[in-house]
Amino acid sequence: MVRRISIFGATGSIGQSTLDLIRRDRAHFRVVALTGGQNIARLAADAREFGAEIAVTADPALLPDLRAALSGSGIEAAAGEAAITEAAARPAEWFMSAIVGIAGLAPGLAALEQGTTLALANKESLVAAGPLLMETARRHGARILPVDSEHSAIFQALAGEEAAAVERVTITASGGAFRDWPLERLAHATPEEAATHPNWSMGQRITIDSASMFNKALEIIETHEYFGFSPDQIEVLVHPQSLVHALVTFRDGATMAHLGAPDMRHAIGHALYWPERRELPVVRLDLAAAGQLDFAAPDPARYPALALAREVMEMGGLAGAAFNGAKEHALTAFIERRIGFTQMAEVVAAVLEAIGRAGSHRAGAFTLANVAAMDQMARQEAERIINRITG
Ligand code: NDP
Ligand code: MG
Repeated sequence: MVRRISIFGATGSIGQSTLDLIRRDRAHFRVVALTGGQNIARLAADAREFGAEIAVTADPALLPDLRAALSGSGIEAAAGEAAITEAAARPAEWFMSAIVGIAGLAPGLAALEQGTTLALANKESLVAAGPLLMETARRHGARILPVDSEHSAIFQALAGEEAAAVERVTITASGGAFRDWPLERLAHATPEEAATHPNWSMGQRITIDSASMFNKALEIIETHEYFGFSPDQIEVLVHPQSLVHALVTFRDGATMAHLGAPDMRHAIGHALYWPERRELPVVRLDLAAAGQLDFAAPDPARYPALALAREVMEMGGLAGAAFNGAKEHALTAFIERRIGFTQMAEVVAAVLEAIGRAGSHRAGAFTLANVAAMDQMARQEAERIINRITG
């Protein structure tokens, strides 16, 4: 059987790993849409290699370049946010949602409306609009399969078990680039230093989020939204080796752990072939070589983002959209060297405080328009705070 698939964020780290798996199993897939952003050369080369029906760049200014790069291929070219969402409405059986940031939400929703399968790497859409995403999937009979490694791990550890039998789940974190840095040094950390990950090879933004643990904060909320576990059932452990991805503890005291090499092609391949298990080109676990597995409770002073995630879940409503928007804005400001590394958490905390005080997170229902408005409000508030603290 040949499956029609589309990859959103094809030119990124997850998108390229997905194409790597497709390349090894070409006969079974027909590529419908590939989307990218700035990397037109990559997008066009992949669209040609895989014989895509359409290639879409997020940036309208790059449409002439994309057209030129695809000339003579018969592949359609399009550009802009709306064109990406339109491409998600093209019939396909499997979608990879791997755009970075809130831009992944609208195409994810459009894909779910087809009632097929959405492999979800774009955690931002679950954090900002979990109830909207889950309800859209339910209404259209679509399935969301987790691609984030911790969530794929929980999904696999839960196979055949009742959710009600779960006492708690634990997601692991490497601790990021600054795990062993003295605390006083963190304020002076540069974007380049933050963008080196000890174990995983990922996009720049998620790698920096790993150093600050905003990534883990997003994942706590992602766990809550996707699986429905209550905040007090979700724990985080620092695990420097990144070999155990998540643990599920059942009410009888048994704990099921998911282990594997830190290679996203495992979680992507699991979602690609689910419910079957196929051979995947990932390094097999060698515990004798690893020698030891270490675990520690995260230090709240080093990783203030974790407490913010708890606050967001307590606030409820559209607080997740505010959190994600503020985090994305603060992260960009850090990358642009407008604020320091530790100021990212300060900015996000202040935004949550302001939104909570005004009660605006409880203002509206979970619609795409309300999520987008809250996202914008949080970015504006973050910008105000950044201007204040940078004087
Ligand atoms: P990358 O930065 O490597 O790739 C992001 C992709 O999104 C690229 O294709 C990029 O295009 C495209 N893109 C960027 N901005 C926009 C926009 N405004 N509109 C449309 N497309 C855009 O990110 P990753 O692959 O690392 O991460 C993708 C998602 O997967 C994120 O949500 C991340 O949190 C999640 N994830 C990633 C993991 C990983 O190992 N990398 C692990 C778990 C989750 P271009 O590059 O051409 O500009
Ligand atoms: Mg993860």
